Amino acid sequence: MLDAPSSRGEIVRLLSAVGAERSRLFARSSAIKRERVGNKVYFRGLLEYSNRCVKECLYCGIRGSNPRVHRYTMMEGEVMEAARYALAAGYASIVIQGGEIASPARTREITRLLERIGEATDNRLGITLSLGEQSRETLEEWKEAGARRYLLRVETSNPDLYARIHPRDARHDFERRLETLRHLRACGYQVGTGCMIGLPFQTLDDLAGDLLFFRDIDADMIGMGPYVEHADTPLYRHRGILLPPLARLHLSLGMIAVLRVMMKDINIVAATALQAIDKLGREKALMAGANILMPNITPVRYREDYLLYENKPCVDEAADQCKECLEARVRLAGDEIGRGEWGDSPHFALRTGKKEPADGGMTGKNQ
Ligand code: SAH
Ligand code: SF4
Repeated sequence: MLDAPSSRGEIVRLLSAVGAERSRLFARSSAIKRERVGNKVYFRGLLEYSNRCVKECLYCGIRGSNPRVHRYTMMEGEVMEAARYALAAGYASIVIQGGEIASPARTREITRLLERIGEATDNRLGITLSLGEQSRETLEEWKEAGARRYLLRVETSNPDLYARIHPRDARHDFERRLETLRHLRACGYQVGTGCMIGLPFQTLDDLAGDLLFFRDIDADMIGMGPYVEHADTPLYRHRGILLPPLARLHLSLGMIAVLRVMMKDINIVAATALQAIDKLGREKALMAGANILMPNITPVRYREDYLLYENKPCVDEAADQCKECLEARVRLAGDEIGRGEWGDSPHFALRTGKKEPADGGMTGKNQ
């Protein structure tokens, strides 16, 4: 039986496995998924709330200085409508994601949104935020206002690689990213992090380091997916040294499988970026061990303006179409949909002693 690897060398070996050895890895990760988190896939309705961003991450299509992006922030009424839609569609959880803006006005705006969503849905939606690095006070305020989870990818756990894919200034500081992850944990959030796979200059050893980092910080949720280049970004000039897209997909699926063997009871996202490379990328991720999907519920008129990377799927599909398409995908992967359930990871429940009620929180607050 394949044991959880605990050293960089062992992980690199698994990520490089081919043939029967790779099949054994996937058989094991899929069995662990079924035993430890079940075959239910949970949906998180993704709201791309705003593409305004003060950062300049060298890989990202909506980086602050890209003049070709038309900037928007969703209106409160649109967020409320999307939240109601998510509840009616049985998603039970939403993610409010956006560029990084750290200002008192943005803090208040999000607090108000959280309170209004809570009131309008009787606290039945599990809310995840993914709004970049914020002060401890802001994170506390949002937690208090009803956010339960926070998603902040470390992007890479190697500080040298981090420095190569970000401008070298105080706003893009690796240590600050780590500190924010610590604050999130201290504030009581379910902490989600992750990395990009197939970045220029990234090695298998770096990726092994990422998986060990996730284990060491005891993350509740991981979202990792392939790096997909975007022509309007500085990193684009390194496209000549990238792994071919299919190799990035292959590596991403390997990362998911190894992670499932290492962190058996956490939530793992089948990242949307997988589908930018392969139409069936997300189904393959579910089969490799992922158990979370993020259907896009952003109003269609904003989607073209939230292109973090190229070939982003579903930019012209309304929420309903996304829903049907993703439900079919889950069935194709041999899984079921955890409809109306928050789908907190068993890991989080064990870590904190908090258990989701059998009705999945659909009758009240579960904090
Ligand atoms: N601004 C927030 C959340 C929005 S960006 C933040 O940065 O945390 C969400 C994620 O998109 C980032 O964490 C990054 O991993 C991913 N992303 C950005 N550009 C990408 C690209 N070119 N390819 C793949 N993923 C990308
Ligand atoms: Fe802004 Fe996030 Fe893109 Fe960086 S990755 S530029 S923080 S939206």
